[in-house]
Amino acid sequence: MALLALGAQGSLKVASLHPLLSDMARSVGGTAVEVVDLFPKNGELHAFEPTAADIAAAAGAQLVLACGKGVEPYLEDLRDSLPARTQVLELGQNIPDVYLPGTRIADPHWWNSPSAMKRASRALRAALEACDPGQKATFSKGQRAYAAQMDTLVREARLAFAGIPQERRILVCSHAAMNHFCKEFGFTAVAVHGIAQESEGDTASLARILTQLRSQSAPCLFYGANETPKILQTIASQVNATTRPLVLDGIYPATPTYAELFRFNIKNIKDGLSPR
Ligand SMILES: [Zn+2]
Repeated sequence: MALLALGAQGSLKVASLHPLLSDMARSVGGTAVEVVDLFPKNGELHAFEPTAADIAAAAGAQLVLACGKGVEPYLEDLRDSLPARTQVLELGQNIPDVYLPGTRIADPHWWNSPSAMKRASRALRAALEACDPGQKATFSKGQRAYAAQMDTLVREARLAFAGIPQERRILVCSHAAMNHFCKEFGFTAVAVHGIAQESEGDTASLARILTQLRSQSAPCLFYGANETPKILQTIASQVNATTRPLVLDGIYPATPTYAELFRFNIKNIKDGLSPR
């Protein structure tokens, strides 16, 4: 116990509201940070609210990492509950908005773009350095390695998608979570529901999507890996498409790191949309 306490002493405590930001903080911060996960293992991103215990844990941290872009509607209340020494960092503030097709509604799921994650890791490095200037070299090394991994994932994705012709590059998802991804990799995003996975698609929007899918030829429709794909399967059967899972909200126990999650998505998109 004494040794553990000694080991933790002096390291920068960072609390995180999203598992992918925890993964980023562990990569960039290395041994110089202690990351506290506030998000529950099987939680649902758009329904989560921190408990009193979460707020107490966040209060003990110097930095609290948030996605921003409205992903955490409770963020202002959380900020008010925290001591002045705890800084809440919305990493999404560094990422340019990408809108749902034909709208001015920004898709907040920026983590589905590795280039956005790379940009966010630079902001995280700067914030860590400001908290603990003595560990500048550690943070710099960690961020360079993280950025290189994001570059590798972009290359892997481009290679995997090279055989998908333009007319099949339609990414139909259960909720509007892949617009940042689609912009980066040259796909058209279509969402059955809105931003949050629990939002209901009304009859008119389902009819519109069916019409759109019949005029295009999306060979595969994608549902959130932790969602029940019932509605999507019904639509798929009507447009003669298959269905596959994607990790949309960045939270899936089987893919705990960003690299695992992104490779899971690459494989399913490749397998779903490549010509047979
Ligand atoms: Zn979502």
